[in-house]
Amino acid sequence: MGATIPAAKPLIGDDERAAVDRVMRSGMIAQGPEVAAFEREFADALVDGRDCVAVSSGTAGLHLGLLAAGIGPGDEVIVPSFTFAATANSVALTGATPVFADIDPVTYCLDPQHVESVVTSRTKGIMPVHLYGHPADVTALGALAERHGVQLFEDAAQAHGARWQGRRVGTFGSFAMFSLYPTKNMTSGEGGMVSCASPELIRAVQLLRNQGMERRYENEVVGFNARMTDLHAAIGRVQLGKVDAWTETRRRNARFLSEHLEGVGVPVVVDGAEHVWHQYTIRVEQDRDGFAAALLSEHGVGSGVYYPVPNHELPSFGLTIDLPETRRASQQVLSLPVHPALSDEDLERVVAGVNAVAKAGA
Ligand SMILES: *Cc1c(COP(=O)(O)O)cnc(C)c1O
Repeated sequence: MGATIPAAKPLIGDDERAAVDRVMRSGMIAQGPEVAAFEREFADALVDGRDCVAVSSGTAGLHLGLLAAGIGPGDEVIVPSFTFAATANSVALTGATPVFADIDPVTYCLDPQHVESVVTSRTKGIMPVHLYGHPADVTALGALAERHGVQLFEDAAQAHGARWQGRRVGTFGSFAMFSLYPTKNMTSGEGGMVSCASPELIRAVQLLRNQGMERRYENEVVGFNARMTDLHAAIGRVQLGKVDAWTETRRRNARFLSEHLEGVGVPVVVDGAEHVWHQYTIRVEQDRDGFAAALLSEHGVGSGVYYPVPNHELPSFGLTIDLPETRRASQQVLSLPVHPALSDEDLERVVAGVNAVAKAGA
C-alpha cells in the first residue's frame, strides 16, 4: 500500500506563486486592478459574460447576493437541507427564514415537487445548490419561481463550468455564487464570485462589499468589508486558465470509476446535465462509516462524507421535520477521490479498494 490518496487536493503551481509575487512587488495588495481583471475574466470564461463581483468568500457572496436581492426579516427562502451549512446560514444571516426542502435521490439537488409543497405567502426565493457539480433542475425550479412570483438564486459553490440544457449554471438566477475555497474546482485561497442578472444587483453587491460606499466617505447604505484582495485575485486568475482542463480530467476520472466500480451505487448524470465532478459520490447501503474506515486502513484510500448531518438537524437550526431522501442520503453517501491530481495508478487503487471492501461486506 502506497501513501494515502487524499479525497481532495488543491493544485498550486509555480505560476500561482509567481502571480502572488508580482502583486507583492507592486506594493498594492488590497482590492485593485487584479480583482477587476479577475471579475471580467471569470465572467467571460464561466458565465457567458454575465457581470461578476468578487468577494472574500462564497458565504459572503451568498449573504450579500441575498441582501442585494431584497431578502430580509419576515421572508422565507427555500433551500436544500442536504448541503454545506453556508447555504442556509446565508439566508438566516439576512434575518429571513430558511425553509428546508427535500432532494431528488438521483441528483441530490432540490426536488421541484417538494419545493412546491413548502411554498407559502412569505416565500421570496428558491435557492438550489448544484451539489457535487451536478446542476439542479433550474428549468423546473425557475418555472416554479416564476409561477409564484419569487426569485431564483443559485448556490454554484461546487459547479464552476457546469451546464444545464446547454446553458451555464450561474446564468439562471437573479444571482449565483461560486466559491473559491481551496478544495473547490478552482481556488483563490479564499474567495467567492457573484454573478448577477442586472446592473442594479451588481451595484448593490459592490456597495455591500465595501462599507456601502462607491465614492470614498459617501456611504450610501450600511455595508460590510467583504472585499477580495489582489493577492487572492492573482491566484484565481491563474487557476481560471486551468479549470477547463481540470474539469476534463475530473470527467475522465469519473468515467473510469463508473466503468470499473462494482457492488456500490455509482452516481447518475441526468439528461441535460453537464457534470463537473466536484465530488464523485457513491451510495453505500450498509454501514457507510465502516466502509470508509476500511477503505482508508486497508487500502490507503481517503474519502469524504458530504454531508453527514442534514442542515435542519444541526444544533444551529434544530428542526424536527422529516425529509426522507435527505436523511437517507446523509446516511449513505461517500465521496471518492476524483480530483485532477490522481494518477492512473491512484485510480486503479481506488477501484481495487472500493470493490474489495464492497465484496467483503456483501
Ligand atoms: C463551499 C460552499 C459554500 C461556501 O463557500 P465558502 O467559500 O467556503 O464560504 C456554500 N455552499 C456550498 C454548497 C459550498 O460547497
